[in-house]
Amino acid sequence: MTRSVKIRDVTHLLLDEAESLITSTKSANSGNRPRIGFVSLGCPKNLVDSEVMMGLLDRAGAEMTSNPETAEILVVNTCSFIDAAKQESVDAILEMVQHKAKGTARKLIVAGCLVERYRDEIRKNIPEVDAVVGTGELDQILAAAGLEAPIPQIPELSPFTILTSAQAARAEGDLRESQGRFSRNGWDGAEAHLPQYLYDHTTPRLLATKKASAYIKIAEGCDHPCSFCIIPNLRGKFRSRRFESVVAETESLVAQGVREITLIGQDTTCYGEDLRLKDGLAQLLDRLAVIPGLVWLRFLYAYPNKISGKLLETIAKHDNICKYLDVPLQHASGPVLKSMKRGANADIFLKTIEKVRSAIPEIALRTSFIVGFPGETEADFETLCDFVREAKFDWLGVFGYSDEEGSRAFGLEGKVPARMIERRKRELMKIQQRISKKTKAEWVGREIEVLVEGESEETPLLWEGRSQYHAPEIDGIVYINDFGPYEELIAGEFYRCEITEAHDYDVVARVLARIQE
Ligand code: SF4
Repeated sequence: MTRSVKIRDVTHLLLDEAESLITSTKSANSGNRPRIGFVSLGCPKNLVDSEVMMGLLDRAGAEMTSNPETAEILVVNTCSFIDAAKQESVDAILEMVQHKAKGTARKLIVAGCLVERYRDEIRKNIPEVDAVVGTGELDQILAAAGLEAPIPQIPELSPFTILTSAQAARAEGDLRESQGRFSRNGWDGAEAHLPQYLYDHTTPRLLATKKASAYIKIAEGCDHPCSFCIIPNLRGKFRSRRFESVVAETESLVAQGVREITLIGQDTTCYGEDLRLKDGLAQLLDRLAVIPGLVWLRFLYAYPNKISGKLLETIAKHDNICKYLDVPLQHASGPVLKSMKRGANADIFLKTIEKVRSAIPEIALRTSFIVGFPGETEADFETLCDFVREAKFDWLGVFGYSDEEGSRAFGLEGKVPARMIERRKRELMKIQQRISKKTKAEWVGREIEVLVEGESEETPLLWEGRSQYHAPEIDGIVYINDFGPYEELIAGEFYRCEITEAHDYDVVARVLARIQE
């Protein structure tokens, strides 16, 4: 699912304070320890890929550096789902080319979604690029960097029948058929070329997220036919990680001090369908929530018609499952949703929201929309605006439609002029700003649990944190301007706080007491 991220925060980030976690058996060839600089662009799923590639390099003996000037090898893990993301990826690559031309860097590797789309063009048009690594080839980063993988010690997991890939593909095809799920085969017959890699609990990772928080990718790829989206071509068919592997990774992360886990995938609510699990995500949440030491468990990227009663029940049942639901709806006008190949409409969505809020009254709702989809009329846009006024989301992201080659919408008539797309984007965000200002004002006086993340980039007098109603990096911030009984706060720790002030998206709080988790 596509998502509005604070591009600067997440994208152009030269990963530095990455921590080595999980099974990292360092390579013996300590003589050859190249310094590697990593740029990670795009969404949290791509960030996990960067962490996996850094983990593999770290285990093979490389040394990570946050200074591109001193890096011998530079890696840019790219994003390319819409124009703006493509442009940012190309800019980052060209910036690293400068380092290669001037600095010590002797090798430049490009990885990620841009490679899946423009593998040959990158090599032809940017000769300074020495190697490319696709989203399905993360383990090839070692060969690309000229490093070998050490012999890993793989801990045993409960025995499973190992299917050959052909048997797996056939069984999967039958299962897909029997569940009436969309299959790429019918689309472009390019199935064999689709990425298939998916890391597991034995894969080393260097975490790049803030202290105490980590993402876990529980599935990769997507089978939905959304006509504006090319992600399935970049990430392949939907495939879940094995249940026990996600449990093992979560236990390992928590054992190493992680307190907040965010489960991600293109569509997390599809989890386990290819493993014959019924309500797979609810089952997984139920199992993970009982892991001692896990304070907050959250998932992102739910698909609208997959929010089952069982899932809501499970969220309500466990205190440590965040009362937070992220469900990108993309639009609210029936005709537009039909043309997007997503179905439903505003009335259906309002009923779903009512069901969610009656099951979990305090839940925070996040969504995202695309405006300017081909054929979108002023009336369609008004339907969307009315829907947003009525639904009152806590967090909302808006994208302007991006005409992506390879998507089905690319061939549609009725393209909306760029100026009108921008105008509709601004108007919809204005409506949300008024709603957010009003709902945040109602938070004043509330006591909430806050995960403190550190000093604010704006001023050391302010610290920043999040509550369970804030996902990492994409929602507002809880600013702390009063440390209460403490001289200083500890990043990565939880504090009970009182909200004292509210703004359009962010709130200000004072500390009452530290929570001993
Ligand atoms: S095809 Fe649809 S559900 Fe899948 S990643 Fe794209 S937008 Fe999300």
